[in-house]
Amino acid sequence: MSKKALIIIDMVRDFIEPDGKLYIGPDADKVVDAISQEIKRARACKQPIIYLCDLHEKDDSEFEMFPPHCIVGTPGAEIVDALKPQPGDIVIPKRRYSGFFQTDLDLTLRELGIDEILLTGVCTNICNLYTAADGRMLNYKVTALKDCMSSFDEEAHRFALKEMEKTLGVNVV
Ligand SMILES: [Zn+2]
Repeated sequence: MSKKALIIIDMVRDFIEPDGKLYIGPDADKVVDAISQEIKRARACKQPIIYLCDLHEKDDSEFEMFPPHCIVGTPGAEIVDALKPQPGDIVIPKRRYSGFFQTDLDLTLRELGIDEILLTGVCTNICNLYTAADGRMLNYKVTALKDCMSSFDEEAHRFALKEMEKTLGVNVV
């Protein structure tokens, strides 16, 4: 049987709150509620909970494509109040779309003996898709919880779920 971890991607104020720098839209509240239920479920069965959080210096080259967001030390970089981590949860900062790219994620999962990751968070077609892709390239089993995901672009959201399922072999549920 596989050992699972719940992964929560970019549920930070700049993406989730209406006055955030890259607000993903009115679906944000629905996603917060759905992830909150998943956190309860994961705690009940002692699955590790890992937050991946976008975190940039103020001159990050990503800002050539996107407005500045999630800058170190700003409120926008904080995890939203409704999903605050508890002691024992793991928070891993990331600078790029993929949560695996030059972060502690792979090493942390290996240390915990995890072979399946349950992905939640935003946005479906950016950080979720590229984290799913790298997870699959590294041979993790990946499950995408689609009700726990959203994007500012509905069409791209649907495309990304399809790409995960058909091309990457992600279990989309
Ligand atoms: Zn970013």
